[in-house]
Amino acid sequence: MTNPGMKCSRCRRPASHRFPQHNLRLCDACLEIFTERQVERAVKKWRMLAPGQEVVAAISGGKDSLALWQILARLGYRVRAVHISLGFGEFSQASLDACRAMAQRLDAPLEVRGLEDWAGAAVGEIALANRREHCAVCGSLKRHLLNRLVFELGADTLATGHHLDDEAGRLLGNLMRRHAGYLERQWPALEGMAPPAGGGVGLARKVKPLVRLSGDEIRAYAQSQGLPAHLASCPRSKGATLTNYQDALELMEQRMPGTKRDLYFGFLRQKAGPPPPPEPGGLCRQCGGPTRQETCGACLLLRRARETAARRAGQGGAA
Ligand code: AMP
Ligand code: ZN
Repeated sequence: MTNPGMKCSRCRRPASHRFPQHNLRLCDACLEIFTERQVERAVKKWRMLAPGQEVVAAISGGKDSLALWQILARLGYRVRAVHISLGFGEFSQASLDACRAMAQRLDAPLEVRGLEDWAGAAVGEIALANRREHCAVCGSLKRHLLNRLVFELGADTLATGHHLDDEAGRLLGNLMRRHAGYLERQWPALEGMAPPAGGGVGLARKVKPLVRLSGDEIRAYAQSQGLPAHLASCPRSKGATLTNYQDALELMEQRMPGTKRDLYFGFLRQKAGPPPPPEPGGLCRQCGGPTRQETCGACLLLRRARETAARRAGQGGAA
């Protein structure tokens, strides 16, 4: 909410953005500086990227990842943008259009992969065959494919547009459900694993350069910069549990500005440092990617979907 006559806390010119969590009012020009500095500080503090480093950025077409792309490019990183088209009709088309418009704006290349083409079946079918939630299956396949793409592109680090609201919401969920393992691994930059000797797929380093920014800060930045973001949320994501925790935190944030920051940064401060790097396990028999089982989670999902399709085809043939 803004008031007429409000002045920018930095330059005293008329301000159009107000952020109670920082007791800050900003004009468009100072919002740009503020937002980009927050990313710069996060990248430095958690040692996400070396100056000028090549980084694969996962671009969904939403405001967060478009802001991520623009800011990392402006900060001088060599960004390889990748978009995974999920095959959800109009929603996916609009997401892809947004990514393409952004690529044009930045005059930068964009790598696009179809999830359905790669998986050989629609996400809905795979979820049904595995009796798993749609969102969980989509997330797991997306992460798997993004990880592969990082190595296909010859890079080793993946940046995503996760921000403070995502991380604080996830933290609240992990605390409430006592997920000790997830709590141990929650950190803005996670080390990966090199591919096996001779090449192949390793585990990408994962970095979240937007963690110092909340959703409303990124929304304001995206709007004032005129980023061509696709603003609709995924039509299949209704009822995802993470949003319940985020909504609860948002309510507290309204009454006690700064709650999200206090929760998340307080949690990080209490930790001794980043979690230890992952220990090498085996390689998936199917895809050659790192896993602790014989076959990795994503390949298991795909295998069950294939088995179900084959059974159905068999039954159809017998009838
Ligand atoms: P979400 O889980 O949808 O909030 O997305 C979190 C982050 O994951 C986004 O900011 C992107 O960096 C990445 N991401 C989500 N969906 C896609 C997609 N379809 N293609 C590429 N990256 C994605
Ligand atoms: Zn696999």
